[in-house]
Amino acid sequence: MEIIIARNSGFCYGVKRALRLTRETANKKPSRIFTWGELIHNPQVISDLEKRGIKVTTSLSSLKPGDTVIIRSHGISPSVYQSLKKKRVRLVDATCPKVKEIQQKVEKLGRARAEIIIVGNRHHPEIKGLLGYSHRQASVIESEEQAKALPFKKKRAVLAQSTQDVELFGKIVAILAAKTEELSVYNTICQSTRVRQEATAELAGQVETLIIVGGKNSSNTNKLYEISLREQSRTYLIESPEELTPDMIREAKIVGISGGASTPPEVIKKTVLAINNSCQQN
Ligand code: SF4
Repeated sequence: MEIIIARNSGFCYGVKRALRLTRETANKKPSRIFTWGELIHNPQVISDLEKRGIKVTTSLSSLKPGDTVIIRSHGISPSVYQSLKKKRVRLVDATCPKVKEIQQKVEKLGRARAEIIIVGNRHHPEIKGLLGYSHRQASVIESEEQAKALPFKKKRAVLAQSTQDVELFGKIVAILAAKTEELSVYNTICQSTRVRQEATAELAGQVETLIIVGGKNSSNTNKLYEISLREQSRTYLIESPEELTPDMIREAKIVGISGGASTPPEVIKKTVLAINNSCQQN
């Protein structure tokens, strides 16, 4: 059996940077360290950080002056930032610079009173943060159906969550273009996401089964799963190699593996080993 790993699988630039800043902060041994929400959507990494005494919180009442709070790569809204400042905690800002660019774009459009449509998952922390920058001018849509339900407008702007599905964003932009006299389009899907999605779609067409490795609560990992399913019905999403079953790789001569932006490279390597071991046993 041949195993092919998709280009760009595993940690993206923003996640690597957030982890580096967190480790550097921990090495300075401040009294208490928290991340504001899970640093990344990956259970193995969160459990590793917990072992190092780094706790997850989204509760202001759990904090006291002098604590260190790490802002994750998804960023936070200005109001949460101000609330944390008022608690007199030390902030380490690990917001991905690419997410910062989107925040600035949304802030500028919101200040100019433009109607903003953000294509993304309204429950995702990146989107919650972006809404906070929009001066209440933004709304979130997640599907083509929601775009079709929007009224005709003279002017609006549309942009995307950094990890949005490129194909879906294109379809929604086309719908909005027909419903808006003057539509400003900002494709804010980050380069890392684009390459990963392209590589996964390509690989899905070349293999007989494709295993997506990553946190089941990770937005970009779930997008990869959906993208692969369009090309390859034998697509499976697993969080760890322990979840592999013989059925997933049965009779497959070429198996593909792709990992989300928050998937540690070790988990991808262990998945390769587990597939190899399973082949030797059968
Ligand atoms: S997916 Fe892109 S925007 Fe999001 S953290 Fe990674 S590099 Fe930054």
